[in-house]
Amino acid sequence: MNKVWLIDIDGTVCDDVPNETPELFVTAKPLEGALEKVKEMEKTGEIWFFTARTSEHAEATEAWLDKHGFPYKGVTYNKPRIKQGQEYHWVDNRPVASSFTPEGIKQLSLK
Ligand SMILES: [Mg+2]
Repeated sequence: MNKVWLIDIDGTVCDDVPNETPELFVTAKPLEGALEKVKEMEKTGEIWFFTARTSEHAEATEAWLDKHGFPYKGVTYNKPRIKQGQEYHWVDNRPVASSFTPEGIKQLSLK
């Protein structure tokens, strides 16, 4: 129980809904296997969603997570958005591990 999972939402646990169409947040479909994977992750630590959705979409986002039964401790909004060809790089004085899961988290292997 020593991990703090930071999990993206759009394209990682559900359909990839851009911020420009927030009306689709409520009807997004969970990706196959995503809920099961997040529950498996929770056995090893805390679940935090980390999303480029803005905080004005907090109510719709958390209602969706609750409706679909995702466990989580919190949601951090306003992750910087990146363009095609850019990458996220995170520098920290604490241990960090990251996984690129372009097809969502279903295939993510937990270590
Ligand atoms: Mg995403």
